[in-house]
Amino acid sequence: MDAVQLIERKRDGAVHTADELQWLVRGVVDESIPDYQLSSWLMAVVWRGMTRDETGDFTLAMAHSGDVLDLSGLPGTTADKHSTGGVGDKTSLVACPMAAACGVTVAKMSGRGLGHTGGTLDKLESIPGVTVDLGTERFMRQAADVGLVIAGQSADLAPADKRLYALRDVTGTVPSQPLIASSIMCKKIAAGAEAIALDVKVGSGAFAQSEPEARALAELMVDLGADAGRPTGAVLTRMDQPLGHMVGNGLEVREACAALRGSGPADLMEVSLAVAGLMLVAAGLASSVDSARPALKDAMLSGRAKDKLASMIEAQGGAPETVDDTSRLPAAAVVRPVTAERAGYVTALDALAVGQVSVDLGAGRRSKDDRIDPAAGVELIAKTGSTVARGEEIALVHAADPDAAEAARSRLAQAFTIGDAPPAEPSIVIDTLLPSPAGRSYPPQSPVW
Ligand code: URA
Repeated sequence: MDAVQLIERKRDGAVHTADELQWLVRGVVDESIPDYQLSSWLMAVVWRGMTRDETGDFTLAMAHSGDVLDLSGLPGTTADKHSTGGVGDKTSLVACPMAAACGVTVAKMSGRGLGHTGGTLDKLESIPGVTVDLGTERFMRQAADVGLVIAGQSADLAPADKRLYALRDVTGTVPSQPLIASSIMCKKIAAGAEAIALDVKVGSGAFAQSEPEARALAELMVDLGADAGRPTGAVLTRMDQPLGHMVGNGLEVREACAALRGSGPADLMEVSLAVAGLMLVAAGLASSVDSARPALKDAMLSGRAKDKLASMIEAQGGAPETVDDTSRLPAAAVVRPVTAERAGYVTALDALAVGQVSVDLGAGRRSKDDRIDPAAGVELIAKTGSTVARGEEIALVHAADPDAAEAARSRLAQAFTIGDAPPAEPSIVIDTLLPSPAGRSYPPQSPVW
């Protein structure tokens, strides 16, 4: 086998064998295949696609390209959760403690924010003292002792994806459904959890801009999880406007803690209940997302979910009191209002624009090595459907200095569309895909892209 042959076969629309894909993944990891040949192969995949069989084989080869954690010795059923990313998406900080309080062992490896979407690790690190660099032994111990751990990915998990993703990022080869699905699922499979819940976002602030695109991605990932013997379910949720009212790391932790104290915004609660419900279903602790709701609500209202988060924060080096006393979180030096330019209804609130303003304030990174300001971000007072008077405060900018605040204010005002008629407000959860039976449930050789 050689790389040129594989590139030519994919260029001409051939279907790779499992052996070919394993050979390729080995060459990615041992660096015997150079970047230029991998880039060329990736572009051929973008154009030609992969069948579901190829995508499954490629996912498993990448999942086994490094360490694969074995969580089977931990108590109960282990579950992980993944979001395709959005603005203000602090669902992990709410759904994971709720699921853990209902008996799932949540052992989750998360990522950092890049671009306009935030990352759970950055949010956790805004809590003074908290570390996300746990190492495998501590990760396993905390999962066993606390039942909830959210940490950074260990260095040797799916190394093939690490190299390929970095190449895709700079060669215009990210937007390919088989490449995205295999990249996400190989890491989830390698991280070892027995059950997986996916939150696939749809809308201006998300990867997938249309519902059919998101649904196809979700279905493919659910199948890939089943291939690996990991019951995997997915929810499709709207990301046209930011989730909740807070965007920015410390601000989002503040909102997640409020949600676990029973005062979360409705959209965040809906998505969190759907995701946590799916974790329970995938873990075999509930027969449907609806039937999981009473137990999850009880976990929240009784304070057990909040206590789980507090225990996790303590185990990872922070003060558990933070969940009740969020004044311990970093606060911005300057907080300035944004006011409505006219009276009416907020008919749209552009998630992408809010995410970009938040990044410019320092809450996110433009490049991998940028430093995060944990206090920076945006507080949305009005959201889609709100009625506002001219001059009324609709948002607050949390900034490090007056210049940054001033620059953000006018751009944030542009993210709001104010009209005369109330907008339609469709349910934030579009659909739920329950875990499919283990094994390949798809017809062989059908192109997915
Ligand atoms: N997240 C990933 O991990 N991989 C992708 O390809 C896209 C999003």
